[in-house]
Amino acid sequence: MASAAPQQAAQPASAPRSKKYDPTKPHITEQPMTIHNWYKHINWINVTLILFVPLYGIIAAFWTPLQWKTAVWAVVYYFMTGLGITAGYHRLWAHSSYTATTPLKIFLAAMGGGAVEGSIRWWARDHRAHHRYTDTDKDPYSVRKGLLYSHFGWMVMKQNPKRIGRTDISDLNDDPIVVWQHRNYLKTVITMGLIFPCIVTGLGWGDWKGGFIYAGILRIFFVQQATFCVNSLAHWLGDQPFDDRNSPRDHVITALATLGEGYHNFHHEFPSDYRNAIEWHQYDPTKWTIWIWKQLGLAYDLKQFKQNEIEKGRLQQLQKKLDQKRQQLDWGIPLEQLPIIDWDAYEAEAKDGRALIAVAGVVHDVTDFIKEHPGGKALITSAIGKDATAIFNGGVYNHSNAAHNLLSTMRVGVLRGGCEVEIWKRAQRENKDISFVSDSAGQKIIRAGSQVTRIAEPIASADAA
Ligand SMILES: [Zn+2]
Ligand SMILES: [Zn+2]
Repeated sequence: MASAAPQQAAQPASAPRSKKYDPTKPHITEQPMTIHNWYKHINWINVTLILFVPLYGIIAAFWTPLQWKTAVWAVVYYFMTGLGITAGYHRLWAHSSYTATTPLKIFLAAMGGGAVEGSIRWWARDHRAHHRYTDTDKDPYSVRKGLLYSHFGWMVMKQNPKRIGRTDISDLNDDPIVVWQHRNYLKTVITMGLIFPCIVTGLGWGDWKGGFIYAGILRIFFVQQATFCVNSLAHWLGDQPFDDRNSPRDHVITALATLGEGYHNFHHEFPSDYRNAIEWHQYDPTKWTIWIWKQLGLAYDLKQFKQNEIEKGRLQQLQKKLDQKRQQLDWGIPLEQLPIIDWDAYEAEAKDGRALIAVAGVVHDVTDFIKEHPGGKALITSAIGKDATAIFNGGVYNHSNAAHNLLSTMRVGVLRGGCEVEIWKRAQRENKDISFVSDSAGQKIIRAGSQVTRIAEPIASADAA
């Protein structure tokens, strides 16, 4: 193990994936899986570590009585090794979201090793590729390949090292603790994963076998499954308050399963923030622990994005959602698509029996609405064929915001020369620079009170007719 290590550390990051890897030979993943070669596609070491060993543990548990002290220790050690992954592998080494003192680093490297999820160097490399190439083919655990694939399929099946996105891990290669752990990975795993939890229960209260099965094997299984959820569940379940273009999501269930790594939409937006949960009431024990380490002088330089930047992202996503909602509603035919009608033609058509009403230069067909008019049939009919701008805007009744919205869905034309609206329409046609606030799809945003039929100052109504 140690003799092979120096070359390994100097090689590109793909080296630790497979020592037998020969770039000139076609990789097994480039051949389709058949009944004859399927076993070559399987990564048997990983299958043993994440499936066969836990299976052995489950069976052995039937013959191993569980002592309560051992149960408590198994849970405590579960949290310690889980933190090795979340606070150590993930937030410290993959994202450098804070700086740790050497004793804390040694502790995290040992605990992370006890979780049996690969070396820091290997784990952080893949994780950086996951952030850089989220959801693409270069993402080592892309959820686009299925929930189970992102959970552990990517470890069960062999992966083509050429496919995984490249990332810079020079900082990790310069970290003696990372390099030491990588070179002595097998020793670390056996010591911290099995021997250490077993020694605690054995020397502590004589339960050697229980320590091995419960605090060792089964605890490893639970830590693995829990932290794998960051790659699967966190990309599948929950909300996307910061960006919905990719798969990462926020959900409290994922947070509960992963020691606080469940606010994954936030995390992918602000990966170098030492927090995953930004609200005080959200569950993020990894963040709390890092904060306590800071108070103890074990960690420092905790990185945090400015609240202003976080809120900007949240607001933009909210705006996007609003735009999508707005586009589902009927705001009336856009003015620029309406035909231009002469005043005489308007009057003639109204006399002919078509219930047309002009407000602020826009012609509306209210035929189907007359009997539903809340102000009664008489008032609305009296405005047919006239310029009802003043009547509608306070002359007779100052119509509500909802009334202006409803009116706009009835528009059928624009009066020639009559009002500003036609000048505006002509300018639009000639491509003059008239700016309106538009949403992300280029649709005009009609705010309350800014409908074209709304006239700010009520016009004297005496001679409106
Ligand atoms: Zn992710
Ligand atoms: Zn991450």
